[in-house]
Amino acid sequence: MTNFPAEAPKDCDLCPRLRGFILEQQDKHPDWFNGAVPSFGDAAAELLVIGLAPGLTGANRTGRPFTGDWAGDLLYQTLDKFGFVQGTYDKRADDGMTLKRAMITNAVRCVPPQNKPVGAEINQCRPFLKSRIEALPKLKVMLCLGKISHDSTIRTLGLKLSQHGFGHGTEYDYEGTTILSSYHCSRYNTNTRRLTEEMFEDIFARAKELIDA
Ligand code: URA
Repeated sequence: MTNFPAEAPKDCDLCPRLRGFILEQQDKHPDWFNGAVPSFGDAAAELLVIGLAPGLTGANRTGRPFTGDWAGDLLYQTLDKFGFVQGTYDKRADDGMTLKRAMITNAVRCVPPQNKPVGAEINQCRPFLKSRIEALPKLKVMLCLGKISHDSTIRTLGLKLSQHGFGHGTEYDYEGTTILSSYHCSRYNTNTRRLTEEMFEDIFARAKELIDA
């Protein structure tokens, strides 16, 4: 166990580049959330979805992971299809929708320029991910969206990347929980059909199977 909190303070300044980028957005868009985006979901989650980082006009604007952008439309639609959503997702943090048996977090909690955190930022944010994972007593599946999320999760758990490589549909056991990975549900991946809705649903079907086992 670590003493690190599972959530970063909204004005976290551990990564000067990311803090600077957020302050620029704050000047341009004072009505946006503009801060480290907290995880969202059920404290008794069995499924932890681990994204990359807040999108500029999605989570960084609304203050809830994956809320208000393309990736979120597909993610919440799929979570809903598999019974993890209560209420209706409406692209706003105040839509009243809640998650049951699931939580969503990000490997990096602050929006990075061009959606690309650098290695030092991913490393700096990792203790929050570690604490987030450790704070979920019922956790059964960690679903990593994309390679950055996958690699950071593997490192968080102290596993070797050389023995736990990323691939769409890869599964690794970690002390009875499963690390399941998927291509990220980004607009780029879905437009290029690297990830189709069917492929994403297959991943969730597997996650549900592992949870219900
Ligand atoms: N929004 C998030 O919160 N995370 C992602 O990985 C993508 C969009």
